[in-house]
Amino acid sequence: MIKYIAYCRKSTDEKEKQVLSIESQIAELKEFAAREKLVVTEYLTESRTAKIPGRSIFNQVIEKIEKGEANGILAWHADRLARNSIDGGKIIYLLDTGKIIDLKFPTFWFDNTPQGKFMLSIAFSQSKYYVDNLSENVKRGNRQKLRKGILPNKAPYGYLNEPRLRTIEIDPLKSKIVKKAFELFAEGESSIADISRFFQKFGITRYTGKMLHLDTVKRLLSNKFYIGIINFGGETYEGTHKLFLPPELFGKVQKILEARKHPKPRRNNFTFLGLVKCAECGCAITAEVKHKCYPTTRGNVDYIYYRCTKKRNDCSQNYLREELVEQQLRAIVAKSSLPNSWAKLWLEKLDKEETEEKTNSETAISKLSSKILEIDQKLDRLLEGYLDQIVDPQIYQQKKNELVELKIKLKEKMTSISKNGSESAAFLRI
Ligand SMILES: [Zn+2]
Repeated sequence: MIKYIAYCRKSTDEKEKQVLSIESQIAELKEFAAREKLVVTEYLTESRTAKIPGRSIFNQVIEKIEKGEANGILAWHADRLARNSIDGGKIIYLLDTGKIIDLKFPTFWFDNTPQGKFMLSIAFSQSKYYVDNLSENVKRGNRQKLRKGILPNKAPYGYLNEPRLRTIEIDPLKSKIVKKAFELFAEGESSIADISRFFQKFGITRYTGKMLHLDTVKRLLSNKFYIGIINFGGETYEGTHKLFLPPELFGKVQKILEARKHPKPRRNNFTFLGLVKCAECGCAITAEVKHKCYPTTRGNVDYIYYRCTKKRNDCSQNYLREELVEQQLRAIVAKSSLPNSWAKLWLEKLDKEETEEKTNSETAISKLSSKILEIDQKLDRLLEGYLDQIVDPQIYQQKKNELVELKIKLKEKMTSISKNGSESAAFLRI
């Protein structure tokens, strides 16, 4: 008598609509077993993909058969059993050695004859072909998109996947929310959690409606996609999507994120510390707060005092109220202020520099564009070296990423100069 183990599988990532759910597979197999009068010892189910060997329930089935607990397998279709060469080979081997006497499928005819085994191995390799082809098609599609500068993934917040053109476009509403979030964070007062709360307030949340995870927000705030860089599979590509964030704003946010990584120990924030030294002995100045209480008139009042640290022991200076330090400093600064009569001359000089600046910007831009051209040539040479197998794949990838990032930075600089003039001009206008 042949004892069958029924095996049902539906992988979680399977997109094929025609594959029955595990429950319906069991129902069909039960009906089939009754009709064919099969003895089924147990029903085992698994919800994992068969692309990679090592499914635990499938291995249990094989083990049970090797131990002789059963000598037949019942499944909905041959592709439920194997989609990789190892598992397919195992089944055929068990048939060859006689451990499996029969396989039954409601949707596929099998007979334990040389012809039947031949048909089975074709069914196995067909399902393997299906899987290989699927992933190859996905990879090919990804490469094609990356070549065109399109991220082959779900669009980051603020963007949407255009289903017809298969591009990534700016989401008119969400892009405004994301930009506002960057602006908020760039002010330096908001925490990551504040930004997440801000997103929730305006409807950018997890699927469940809960606040975005803090790591998600951090990744969003540092995602270079927003300045036109695509990172995919460890490689960097130049994106062709439109930008809605000014690169300067993105840079500002990166600086804040970087600074928050190494928080400085927080000290009392006294205005004039580090600015002045003791005039008598040259030691550093320290400051402290004194609390005073005037029960009948003003209540609690804090006074800030500055004093010499007297590290060298021979200083006669006393405490000084902050207001007095300020007065002294004002007196010093006043000495070096400029007379009004100079203003006209300075303004003329500014005008002259502005004209000079224009020519400077032009030369700077032409320099930058020749640098960019150089990088493009380097990229070409690098690719040739890689294709000729002179350059290791790892080095190729690393170098390529560096060059692409540099190129994007130079391009940013170019737009910034043509918009605001070179750095010196931007500084003078403030
Ligand atoms: Zn002193």
